[in-house]
Amino acid sequence: MISFRQVEKYYGDFHVLNNINLQIEQGEVVVVVGPSGSGKSTLLRCINRLEALKSGELIVNDVPVHDKKTDFNKLRRNIGMVFQHFNLYPHKKVIDNITLAPIKVLGLSRQEAEKTALYYLDKVGIQEKAQQYPSQLSGGQQQRVAIARGLAMKPEIMLFDEPTSALDPEMVGEVLDVMKALADEGMTMVVVTHEMGFAREVADRIVFMDKGQIIEESEPEAFFTEPREERARLFLKRVL
Ligand code: ADP
Ligand code: MG
Repeated sequence: MISFRQVEKYYGDFHVLNNINLQIEQGEVVVVVGPSGSGKSTLLRCINRLEALKSGELIVNDVPVHDKKTDFNKLRRNIGMVFQHFNLYPHKKVIDNITLAPIKVLGLSRQEAEKTALYYLDKVGIQEKAQQYPSQLSGGQQQRVAIARGLAMKPEIMLFDEPTSALDPEMVGEVLDVMKALADEGMTMVVVTHEMGFAREVADRIVFMDKGQIIEESEPEAFFTEPREERARLFLKRVL
């Protein structure tokens, strides 16, 4: 579903992604961990071409993302992304936040789009908030709206970049539960998170990054009990 081969990326002189090789299968949940500044967000943003590569090959759902001629809007239609900050439109009701892209981009009628929106709001457990404005919701509820908004495009891949980092601690669980349910349904997911409990329980694979490189790729049990690499060991010591 996602294939990085010898991907390199720079910001000016700064080598932010260094020889990235990573294959992600359909239905897999890959959790990316590593110190701040190691390139996790950049890696994720390459997948829907919010960032361009310097060299290497990146294929996402048979689409060559490294190729400048690719239709990136078409690519992005198939990839949902959820950020740390939910980026909801504050002046639009919850339901209108969700129907916007399906109407505009997929060409759904308002009626169809609202039906879909309510379905996904129900899925994330807040259908009753449909007619409210984002500011009337808690952080955890807003993030669940952001997830419903992503799902309403019926993507084949969902990317999550620290989706719980901006939340009050008591709201982290409700968002992780929604993500876990999505994983159980077989969604292909790439998740950057510091929630090691979630990583251990939900991930099929852990990818550990440091200084722009993938240092270790392991199954969660192996990664958390006996990481192979010294840098991974040090990282875990600090976060666990
Ligand atoms: P992470 O998500 O692991 O914290 P990022 O991918 O956000 O790491 O960033 C990796 C490095 O690249 C950081 O040192 C960051 O300062 C730098 N960086 C990120 N975005 C840019 C940018 N647009 N221009 C220049 N440097 C950037
Ligand atoms: Mg980041």
